[in-house]
Amino acid sequence: MSDVYAEPTTGTAPTDPATTLARYTTLRLGGPAGRLATATTAEEIVQKVQEAEARDEPVLVLAGGSNVVIGDQGFPGTVVLVRSRGFQVVAEDAETLTVRVEAGEPWDDLVAATVARDWSGLECLSGIPGSAGATPIQNVGAYGQEVAETIIGVQAYDRTHREVVRIEAADCGFAYRGSIFKYSDRWVVLSVDFRLTRSPLSGPVRYAELARAVGVEVGDRVPLADARATVLRLRAGKGMVLDADDPDTWSVGSFFTNPVLEREAYELLRERAADLGEPPSWPGAGDVVKVSAAWLIDKAGFGKGHPGPEGVAISSKHTLALTNRGGTASTSSLVALAREIRDGVHDRFGVALHPEPVLVNCVI
Ligand SMILES: Cc1cc2nc3c(=O)[nH]c(=O)nc-3n(C[C@H](O)[C@H](O)[C@H](O)COP(=O)(O)OP(=O)(O)OC[C@H]3O[C@@H](n4cnc5c(N)ncnc54)[C@H](O)[C@@H]3O)c2cc1C
Repeated sequence: MSDVYAEPTTGTAPTDPATTLARYTTLRLGGPAGRLATATTAEEIVQKVQEAEARDEPVLVLAGGSNVVIGDQGFPGTVVLVRSRGFQVVAEDAETLTVRVEAGEPWDDLVAATVARDWSGLECLSGIPGSAGATPIQNVGAYGQEVAETIIGVQAYDRTHREVVRIEAADCGFAYRGSIFKYSDRWVVLSVDFRLTRSPLSGPVRYAELARAVGVEVGDRVPLADARATVLRLRAGKGMVLDADDPDTWSVGSFFTNPVLEREAYELLRERAADLGEPPSWPGAGDVVKVSAAWLIDKAGFGKGHPGPEGVAISSKHTLALTNRGGTASTSSLVALAREIRDGVHDRFGVALHPEPVLVNCVI
């Protein structure tokens, strides 16, 4: 089996020790871990966490490293690398089935397997890097689908009560790029249950760009394989599929979430952007509006390829991806670029941008 979490050999300094976390992040940035512990089963994950706690060491759970920005000082504790694998059907009926997926299962391998079996529900999330166990953390989503629609529960180790628990989806606090798990180190996800539909067709396509690309109307269903292939093609064109040879993909994907604005704040933005046309937006839950962060960044003067200090730059394919161009890049230079963009957007439009990845020992 190929190891999708393989350590990159370029983009990190050749003198970096084996414990450098740059080897375990898609940004290829981050200083050393105090200690690295690899866990290949759910039991081992619990054991490695408990061992670190017994030594009174802080714990960082790391899987694909595709949604973390780790400071140049690294992490002065135990980093538990989640490498458990596999999935199994744990319940089924005529229309649906429940798949229990080990936390370390590479996400896109899972999506490919479900598409191949005519299990509908994850197809639009094709090509997203990282692990299945991390998908509930920020309610991973793309192209009109998010995991909150299919996750029915999570098995997790509760570090506060020192026991393995089942958390039902309704108690996961799923929100746009968020959940109870994000910014909390109380729970370590061991496995995730997804309820999928037996169907060779996708759910109704909700994302206009995807509908156009497959050649259907929004709301139509398409063969799962077509949805997957089209999403992969669209993502690759934006540098949103990992490619070891393409620094445009040495990122955390979108660095900022799309701002969610109250109606009044949205009207203020429209006034400040009057000379630029209508800001792309989508209705949010309630009387709020979600605005395109990529548009704000671009219109504030930070276009594709915009260089930052010391080997970092905005991707040449997507304004939302801050990338490591190799060589002298560091987390502090990436953070400096992020600050420049955040402050520039605020000065121009009065809108606050918030980082999407989890920041470990660094601040923006
Ligand atoms: C090129 C690219 C494209 C991307 N596109 C998208 C996209 O379209 N949509 C989207 O939502 N995201 C996207 N991402 C972000 C990222 O891939 C997802 O958030 C992914 O789920 C992170 O998985 P991971 O295993 O790499 O998590 P990691 O980066 O290893 O960890 C992320 C956070 O989750 C925690 N964590 C990880 N595993 C566990 C666990 N088992 N238990 C408890 N905590 C855990 C970590 O401690 C950390 O806080 C993209 C990233 C890249 C690099």
